[in-house]
Amino acid sequence: MGMARTRLVAGNWKMHGSRAANQALLDALLSGLAGSRNVECAVCVPYPYLEQVAGRLAGTPLAWGAQNVSEHAQGAYTGEVSATMLLEFGCRYAIVGHSERRQLYGESDERVAAKFAAARKAGLTPILCVGETLEERDAGRTEHVVARQLDAVLGKSEFGAAVLAYEPVWAIGTGRTATPEQAQAVHAVLRKKVGNETRILYGGSVKPQNAAAIFGMPDVDGGLIGGASLVAADFLAICQAG
Ligand code: PEP
Repeated sequence: MGMARTRLVAGNWKMHGSRAANQALLDALLSGLAGSRNVECAVCVPYPYLEQVAGRLAGTPLAWGAQNVSEHAQGAYTGEVSATMLLEFGCRYAIVGHSERRQLYGESDERVAAKFAAARKAGLTPILCVGETLEERDAGRTEHVVARQLDAVLGKSEFGAAVLAYEPVWAIGTGRTATPEQAQAVHAVLRKKVGNETRILYGGSVKPQNAAAIFGMPDVDGGLIGGASLVAADFLAICQAG
């Protein structure tokens, strides 16, 4: 067994929400989390809702963060949001290099590494996502791909207290989860690179029914949860499984 790492279950709301829906979800999460044990929980929300979320969650056990961050500190970067802006809204976390950002918005390994460095420099905790496509898995390239994605970051920054998330692209939003053994095999590869203190989350169609088995693997330290993080009862059940 590795060292005791506090489990983390982080929700990724993606581009979902409204002020009314957020309020109902946060209220339900806070009442369900009251008295919950040894697991840290967080929600990563769309930028415009950070003020609402900070207002509701300040002083509670539920942390919050963003889903992306600029690699730049400030300047003529229309539409971008800096790490120091996120800190002003009390964010602890920022997801960096989510596969949707890599695939749909063309974020390269180098850009993701720059975002990671900017987030760390400002004092945010990046949640770095890595993961292979189905084509890459079928070609036997999984370990190579996740190592390449992680090495781009490690070449530029200490990993420190950042969080790593293994998210096989073929398991995100598809209802198809990696088996606990498949997850563990990749987490073990990542563990060798980042050491015993780093939390390595699994993400990809985690649901209340499969969370406990996945989180029970030795190198899985919690989860990054998309769809199920929008349903209070599901997210709470996953947090309890942590
Ligand atoms: C994600 O968006 O990071 C994710 C894992 O999504 P889902 O849980 O919906 O597969």
